[in-house]
Amino acid sequence: MKCSFCKNEIEKGTGKMYVKADGKIFYFCSRRCEKNLLKLKRDPTRVKWVVKKKVTSKK
Ligand SMILES: [Zn+2]
Repeated sequence: MKCSFCKNEIEKGTGKMYVKADGKIFYFCSRRCEKNLLKLKRDPTRVKWVVKKKVTSKK
């Protein structure tokens, strides 16, 4: 499965699943992703460190 925020692949047994009151399910690879999506309601495409990761993984 993939992280709902940064779209990184999450290995089985790691990460966190979060079910919202409306039934939506989110997966997070880290607390950072959870916080950004749930508390800060940030758009992943606008978060610098998410973009950075995408660039480095391209190489
Ligand atoms: Zn993530």
